Amino acid sequence: MARESQRAKRERAVEICRRMGELYPDAQSALSFSNPFELVICVMLSAQTTDAAVNRVTPELFRRWPDAQSMAGTDPDEVGEVIRTIGFWRAKAQHCVEASQIIVSDFGGEVPRTMEELTKLPGVGRKTANIVLNKAYGVVDGIAVDTHVYRLATRFGLTKAPTPLAAEQDLLKILPHELWGSVNEQWIHFGRDTCTARAPKCAGCPMADICPSAGQPDRYTKQRKTK
Ligand code: SF4
Repeated sequence: MARESQRAKRERAVEICRRMGELYPDAQSALSFSNPFELVICVMLSAQTTDAAVNRVTPELFRRWPDAQSMAGTDPDEVGEVIRTIGFWRAKAQHCVEASQIIVSDFGGEVPRTMEELTKLPGVGRKTANIVLNKAYGVVDGIAVDTHVYRLATRFGLTKAPTPLAAEQDLLKILPHELWGSVNEQWIHFGRDTCTARAPKCAGCPMADICPSAGQPDRYTKQRKTK
């Protein structure tokens, strides 16, 4: 692809989002939660773990500790016993309890509503905070860039950033604010269905005519740390 102007790149990025919206008009997270506390815990637990695995442990987790107050007073080892089938369970159990303690001590038991406050919680980075703000409170303050969004943004030639965190900043500059909120879930679905990490289905891909990596998916993808 010839060198692309910023304006052309923006137009292409908007067109990618438009097509994603057509492909996945009702894209939703597969995580099961019923309030902001459950959501923040679910998203923390989901790092490097499937949503299905998280959904298997959370019914018992939230039966025993339904809110920040109850989880703040428990021993991380007890939480660990409940979540030990998911990856990094020891660190995640510690984060669940410590984050709950801060929610109680600093925020009156309510999950905070700003990026700055949320990212003070152990185990909560910008990705988790973006998801919680968007899904719990309808606040769109960024784009949650996970491993799928990062891979796609790279293949689409929308970022050359070395980390998902830096890639988010590139996407925020390219995409208009009204599109930020739908990127995460729609792109995750597309990344699972079509633009998979290994063997993406470039033949027949609905983005192929606007994707510089069509037929050569590793064109921009180097071995990068994604989480
Ligand atoms: S053309 Fe290939 S690399 Fe580009 S989005 Fe489609 S599957 Fe991914």
